[in-house]
Amino acid sequence: MKILVVGSGGREHALAWKLAQSERIQTVFVAPGNGGTALDARLVTVDVTDPEALADFVVLENVALTLVGPEAPLAAGIVNLFRSRGLKIFGPTREAAQLESSKDFAKAFMHRHGIPTAKYETFSSAAAAHAYIDANGAPIVIKADGLAAGKGVVVAMSLEEAHAAVDHMLSDNAFGDAGARIVIEQFLAGEEASFIVMCDGRNVLALATSQDHKRLKDADQGPNTGGMGAYSPAPIVTPSMHARVMREIINPTIQGMARDGIPFTGFLYAGLMIDADGNPRTLEFNCRMGDPETQPIMARLKSDFATVLEHACNGTLDTVELEWDRRTAVGVVMAAAGYPDSPRKGDVIDGIPAEVPECVTFHAGTKLVDGKLQTSGGRVLCVVGLGDSVKMAQKQAYESVEKIHFNGAQYRRDIGWRGVK
Ligand code: AMP
Repeated sequence: MKILVVGSGGREHALAWKLAQSERIQTVFVAPGNGGTALDARLVTVDVTDPEALADFVVLENVALTLVGPEAPLAAGIVNLFRSRGLKIFGPTREAAQLESSKDFAKAFMHRHGIPTAKYETFSSAAAAHAYIDANGAPIVIKADGLAAGKGVVVAMSLEEAHAAVDHMLSDNAFGDAGARIVIEQFLAGEEASFIVMCDGRNVLALATSQDHKRLKDADQGPNTGGMGAYSPAPIVTPSMHARVMREIINPTIQGMARDGIPFTGFLYAGLMIDADGNPRTLEFNCRMGDPETQPIMARLKSDFATVLEHACNGTLDTVELEWDRRTAVGVVMAAAGYPDSPRKGDVIDGIPAEVPECVTFHAGTKLVDGKLQTSGGRVLCVVGLGDSVKMAQKQAYESVEKIHFNGAQYRRDIGWRGVK
């Protein structure tokens, strides 16, 4: 069968890389892809982003099913469009994607269904928001309601920062419509983990756990980013924690969505905060896989992913049991000079080692120019190493990272540090 992966990041390269290993797959198309998908002889990169044109392409090429990586096309209704044309696609409808595309929708949903999360209130008036902050004090968290490319959350440690964030979002209109409403919520302390499941509307299949590293610099310093690296599994999610998250967060979410008449299909990603007493709360939902969590997760998946996806599209995920590489995978993101504020483009990339069983490099912001690889975005590469311990996986990843060169490359040297500790 032929499969189409929609997106251009490291996540999509990893998904396509995994799908291409299936004996059942004839062709994996990636649209629009990146320099890495263009270089990979097993993948076919297609320069199309418009959803209608993608649907036409799928009909023309007789593509069996489509997998969508990023949130924007999901929130814009690509699943609704494909289904209306009778095409198989794995992802949530526009309505179900509101779990990610509207923080207010997600918070109200969690509240209604008793899913543990931070206390909150939603505002469109700056005066009311300022008064709420004064009444509740800092630290406090301010979130733009809509999609803001990972920039819409301010964890304010002081009242000044909190008031400034409200002014930025509501008065200065920094995120346009996405910030016309804001959610203000209680600050939660603890350790974060990414909990990702696949869902066919009824049945839930948990993927391996993982942990992201949001800050730019070592020891979780510096500004927030899209994610500077991730590793899997996350030791904080013990088997009993896993059972608890399924029972208290994931299952009530899937059942709640079905009960509300908007059954959830696709990847559901719960960003968790686990407090010092071991209580998990939901920080956010994403309605797709995480980037960079996908890269170490796909590196560990042993099952045939094409078959899993088919079951997901056919409503038979209950018949699937996933098999994982027992090793740890550590994914180190290499970012461009100037990332995250103003990433530089056009630096020549050299020295990416050939793939070996212990290490694979996924591309994100790269493109081929006259046969040479150049940087073309903020996060450039994600180098994934596998090893019997977090330390051994780190060693594999960093040995490769050190062989790769582009001017101004930034990367953290401590991905997986919590797992080592
Ligand atoms: P979100 O996009 O909602 O996951 O927020 C991005 C990041 O902000 C999270 O990964 C957390 O590090 C942080 N964050 C979000 N909400 C809270 C909260 N209520 N308390 C503490 N940190 C938070």
